[in-house]
Amino acid sequence: MIVIRSWKYRIYPTKEQEKEFQFYLYECKNLWNFLLEYTKEHYEKTKRFPTRKQLYTLTKKKTKLFSQVSQNVADKLVKALKGMFATKKKGGKVGFPRFKPTERMKSFTYPQFGFKLNKQLLLSKLGEIQIKKHRELKGKIKTLTIKRVPSGKWCAVFTSEVEITPRCNKGAKVGIDLGIQNFGYLSNDSVIINPRHLRKAENKLKQAQKSFSGKKKGSKNRRKAKLRVARAYEKVTNNRRDFLHKTSRKLVNSYSLLAMEDLNVNGLSKGFLAKHILDCSWAEFREMLHYKAEEAGSEVVLVNPAHTSQECSSCGLIRKKTLAERWHNCSCGAIMHRDLNAAKNILKRALGLSLGDRHSGSKQATRGRGEVKPAEKMPLPL
Ligand SMILES: [Zn+2]
Repeated sequence: MIVIRSWKYRIYPTKEQEKEFQFYLYECKNLWNFLLEYTKEHYEKTKRFPTRKQLYTLTKKKTKLFSQVSQNVADKLVKALKGMFATKKKGGKVGFPRFKPTERMKSFTYPQFGFKLNKQLLLSKLGEIQIKKHRELKGKIKTLTIKRVPSGKWCAVFTSEVEITPRCNKGAKVGIDLGIQNFGYLSNDSVIINPRHLRKAENKLKQAQKSFSGKKKGSKNRRKAKLRVARAYEKVTNNRRDFLHKTSRKLVNSYSLLAMEDLNVNGLSKGFLAKHILDCSWAEFREMLHYKAEEAGSEVVLVNPAHTSQECSSCGLIRKKTLAERWHNCSCGAIMHRDLNAAKNILKRALGLSLGDRHSGSKQATRGRGEVKPAEKMPLPL
């Protein structure tokens, strides 16, 4: 079985190379806006979108970018337009793709060639760039994206095709209830605890945020504070990702079936930061489970999340609980931790689903936090 994997490495451009990178981002932004403007006008006149080929021809005239990079900008626009149509078809509200200001253009992509990875990273027109390969890249490299992160660092993200042989997994089946107090509660009464170092890093982030919002707008101190927030944020997300990798690896190796709630992560909360990070990490966790499960011969099943904590896992009776009620205490005599009850319901639902009804995610799994598709609603199993 061939699967796509992504590999992220830190790169260290020189001052001149960094200027070139900035220039590339700037040009990509201009090109995006130009193509979008053209598309809008074309649509108003003809009620049709320009073809990919038409856009490609335009990119040639318009920029000094490496051709593959500029064609990728056109590809991204085509993808955005298709996405817009797909959402409209489903009845969702969505507008045209938007014009981008400079700070919104954070990456550029080489979809096929124009780069080479040896000890250094060689980029067409840009030269050799220092790269730190902290882990070995496996498989046949397909694409490269150069990315600027908010703390000002640069990364190279490769995707590659990797051949895997799924293992035979004889582990037990388990339901997982993801939570806030604990990271997760398993239907076999074990708990995944949020690591303490993570909470420490999150507290630091909160402090940095507070200090930032107290600084005067436009001041030098505010700029500095903003960078501190970006660094603290990066640290938190890196620590979290590390924890998620280890946890997901352990789970797929230990269990042959992992059932989870099908949460709609499309509407990621934009409210307060801690909640936002939590939502993102759940989405990321599910995605990691999906692709790690493929190799570990384990299956991830997403179930309808309705009433998982209200329903009794022993007798099926539904009784409303407030968030403060930590125990499930049913008239049938079942007494257990609220999250254990939920985890048991999640597993029950997964086992009750016929094969056709399951979405074992792997087909639907998407890469990247921003691209997680809205979860489809499923009927309750009887
Ligand atoms: Zn009961």
